[in-house]
Amino acid sequence: MVDLIPSSDTVMQILKRTGAFREGHFVYPNGKHSPHYFQMPLAFRYYDTARVLAVALSRKFRIDRDVSSQLPKVSIISPSSGGIPVAFGVRDALSAEQIYWAEQEGGQRMFRQYINKGEVNPCIIVDDIIRSGQAIEETAGLVESLGSNIIGCGAIVRFSSAPDTVNNVPIKSLVTFDAHMYDSGDSCADCKKNAPVENVRF
Ligand SMILES: [Zn+2]
Repeated sequence: MVDLIPSSDTVMQILKRTGAFREGHFVYPNGKHSPHYFQMPLAFRYYDTARVLAVALSRKFRIDRDVSSQLPKVSIISPSSGGIPVAFGVRDALSAEQIYWAEQEGGQRMFRQYINKGEVNPCIIVDDIIRSGQAIEETAGLVESLGSNIIGCGAIVRFSSAPDTVNNVPIKSLVTFDAHMYDSGDSCADCKKNAPVENVRF
């Protein structure tokens, strides 16, 4: 089974081919500059690609005894809309019983109303990309407030600067990406070359 998990290089090729990984000169809303940008939903717009990526991530959970011993009474949780296709794909591959996703409401991450304490199975949190880890950590807090616990966590891509555990659970990913970020244009290598800028929304 382990052999069926595509290598980091293969996953990066998929992300490049679908436009999800872009190279250039990008400026983020927080003013940081970077020579690369991930727009992960572009990889998940193709059903076949979405399936390959989600199945690959699911295999990392399947071989984890803490997870496999609790299936199918497991809940797959997405911290945001970007993680929803990942969550459905991983659920399908693992035959997990539940799916939940959080949304931002009034600047706060929350689940929909009427999800009661004690209803949420042990959780695997999955996302398309983990940049700072903030979304995962906030979601872990929500899960705990509903009386559930985290047995797994993972994403297609995790920035190497992000945490590699949440609540002592290791974060799995298909790619660990060494992101280059410049705090401002002053230190940006592409600004020095006068390369045209693309402003990205988030
Ligand atoms: Zn720049």
